[in-house]
Amino acid sequence: MARLAMLIDLSRCLGCQACVIACKAGRELAPGERWVEIREVVWGRFPELRGAFVPHRCFHCAEAACVQVCPTGALYKRDGFTLVDFDRCSGCGYCVEVCPYKVPRLVDGRVSKCASCLDLVQRGEEPWCVRTCPAGALQCGTREEILAEARARVAALKDRYPEAQIYGETQMGGLGVIMVLPAPPEALGLPAQPQIPPLAIWKDGVQPLSLGALALSVLTSGIAFFIARRRHLEEKRNSQNHGE
Ligand code: SF4
Ligand code: SF4
Repeated sequence: MARLAMLIDLSRCLGCQACVIACKAGRELAPGERWVEIREVVWGRFPELRGAFVPHRCFHCAEAACVQVCPTGALYKRDGFTLVDFDRCSGCGYCVEVCPYKVPRLVDGRVSKCASCLDLVQRGEEPWCVRTCPAGALQCGTREEILAEARARVAALKDRYPEAQIYGETQMGGLGVIMVLPAPPEALGLPAQPQIPPLAIWKDGVQPLSLGALALSVLTSGIAFFIARRRHLEEKRNSQNHGE
């Protein structure tokens, strides 16, 4: 399947919370659990203030730090989305620590974040949030389609918002959520250049090194045990010889 993506157009979001409720009901989330959050942001200087609603959710990074650190494989990539196998989650919380967007949470001892509605998309249906949005702020499609739509929307916005731009084209290797921003990312509470934190290198770097160190230490202990045992047997043999 082609790489999929989601469009979030901040210039159209009304902050109505319909997507939050649809996601909660459609995905049958536990009480207190939510995968979409709407944040209200104001920028500019009085009296030139402007505002927007910023849906905060998993951005489905191509280079997903959460996937890189997850030791159980509970988090994984498919068709551009970062999915979750909840049964495999051990609740260690590494993904919570490394996500540059602070998205995953632990609820009842397991990770909680948008696991995407890939099952619906594969059946030709729209994700719960997309089908519910009354303002046309959300859309789902192939990444090429979504990027083309985002470019067209940004071009149309330039009169009203001269700093309008696309977010997600390159960040974290390219996000699975492409946003149409009416202002620079920092003004909307988004990191312009999010980084993969050093802990994410753990799985690819330190973890194999630790395994190597562990193997070396087992080998060293084995050799030491073998030498000690041989010495012990020799001493025993010598004392038996002296006794004869
Ligand atoms: S936003 Fe966070 S939880 Fe979502 S894919 Fe990126 S690193 Fe993982
Ligand atoms: S808490 Fe996060 S990192 Fe740990 S097993 Fe669960 S999904 Fe993976």
